[in-house]
Amino acid sequence: MAKWQFTKGMHDLGNGCYAYIMPDGSWGWSNAGLIVDGDATLMVDTLFDLKLTAEMLSTYRASIPAAKDIGILVNTHADGDHTFGNQLVEGARIIGTQGTVDDFARFDPTVVQKIVTNAEEYGSAGVFMRECFRPFDFSGIELTPPTETFSGTMDIMVGGKKVQLIEVGPAHSLGDALIYVPDDKVIYTGDILFTGGTPIAWYGPVQRWIDVCDMVMGMDVETIVAGHGPISTKDDVREMRDYLQYVSDAARPLWEDGLDYLAAAYKVDLGPYRDRNDAERVVVTLQTLFDDFGNAPVRPTRAPIPYFAEMKSFRHNLGRGPVHEAYCKACGLKHDAY
Ligand SMILES: [Zn+2]
Ligand SMILES: [Zn+2]
Repeated sequence: MAKWQFTKGMHDLGNGCYAYIMPDGSWGWSNAGLIVDGDATLMVDTLFDLKLTAEMLSTYRASIPAAKDIGILVNTHADGDHTFGNQLVEGARIIGTQGTVDDFARFDPTVVQKIVTNAEEYGSAGVFMRECFRPFDFSGIELTPPTETFSGTMDIMVGGKKVQLIEVGPAHSLGDALIYVPDDKVIYTGDILFTGGTPIAWYGPVQRWIDVCDMVMGMDVETIVAGHGPISTKDDVREMRDYLQYVSDAARPLWEDGLDYLAAAYKVDLGPYRDRNDAERVVVTLQTLFDDFGNAPVRPTRAPIPYFAEMKSFRHNLGRGPVHEAYCKACGLKHDAY
């Protein structure tokens, strides 16, 4: 039996480290964390909407008195499922990398809300975004980016506990950071780790992401809080690394043959990874790999929304049902037909 249950809510990792876990870990269902020592608190990420974030804050506050006032909020990266609740952490210092600040408006919640509400007007990209994001409510969100940035590493004392922020992006996003608690052998990875699911490389280089996985495997850590999925171990980091290496190795000859990334995505034999959750994300990772291989003097900037149309078709081609199907079964809601 796994040491940790994959259940929604707060998990006490011991010695003032907490994880907040949201199954099923698929699109939008992210994890967060909290580090406490005495009256001092450092929160790792918020959630995808205000309701979920408020629920998380009240869960923390019900059992951890120090969580009444969050001193520091660190964003592992800019994606909305880790930052859209930031405005609720009033009075906190908000820390992230410069890449996270630069990446912050990539998904504007008002635009996402508009697309999800009028999905058909946006074609199949809109329809797939609605499918991915319909469990969430994007109203009332005001983008609240970090007010302090760091580069390289930054050590912070939370009470008497040392916490190290480690800049590792661009990899999954433009500004990824890890939050490491050396004395407790705990690390919060943000979306460097999608345990049990499929990673998505919005930026790359993918090799850099692979190197980050190798780095984490070499660190003195035992408990790993992934950006998505269950509480993890180094075995899960190794699996993530192996996936990224597998797809990189499969992509290169197709790039050398002159295929475009989308044609290449359909040619890649996903092998053991075909049945993973969110396997359609390989489309985005392939484009990023092709950008890596092309090594252009100025790396192209890619708009994220059109990818959703390509991922929808790819998912359909895999014979998959709708995203969050399991969630919908669980919640008993009758959602629109696929
Ligand atoms: Zn992300
Ligand atoms: Zn995420």
